[in-house]
Amino acid sequence: MNQAALVIVKPDGMTRGLLSSVLDKFAQTKLDIIGMKSIIATEELAREHYNHLKDKDFFNELIDYLTGKLHQNKNMIAVIYYGEDAIAKCRGVAGATHPEKADPWSIRGAFGRVRTDGLFENVVHVSSDDDEAEREIKLWFSPEEVSVSVYPTDTRAATERTVWV
Ligand code: UDP
Ligand code: MG
Repeated sequence: MNQAALVIVKPDGMTRGLLSSVLDKFAQTKLDIIGMKSIIATEELAREHYNHLKDKDFFNELIDYLTGKLHQNKNMIAVIYYGEDAIAKCRGVAGATHPEKADPWSIRGAFGRVRTDGLFENVVHVSSDDDEAEREIKLWFSPEEVSVSVYPTDTRAATERTVWV
């Protein structure tokens, strides 16, 4: 079954010049790229993105991480991969959440680290299931920025803008 997966190269990956290495690794999945852009996470967007983790003791550090407060680069690259089993393929390439437990050939195993405060600085975000992918893609992209109509849309007559419904 074709599915979409959102990948975000987080501020540590950008600051350490890992963008091309990371994209090379995902290219090995042979999935299509159906959307890609540079994004900056405001406090509000970061909290929305990681809303399901709001009760964790590392939540504030995680928000600082995504909003770029821990690194030189604030901007991140968001990529939507699309194809057969996209989520499992992308999560496989990314590796386990904990960089020390990740396969050494995976992105997080090769480039991730655990900070002294305990936060996992693990280079990439990857959606973990279909519902999360849909929620995240609708959060970070507008329909016009995605080349395959993965989710239903509606065109508002007044503005002629197409919006997620
Ligand atoms: N994270 C962390 N410590 C933990 C769990 C998660 O620092 O014990 C951070 C890490 O950067 C991770 C992010 O929070 O990528 C989101 O956590 P999630 O459980 O969703 O892991 P992921 O889906 O990114 O593998
Ligand atoms: Mg997750």
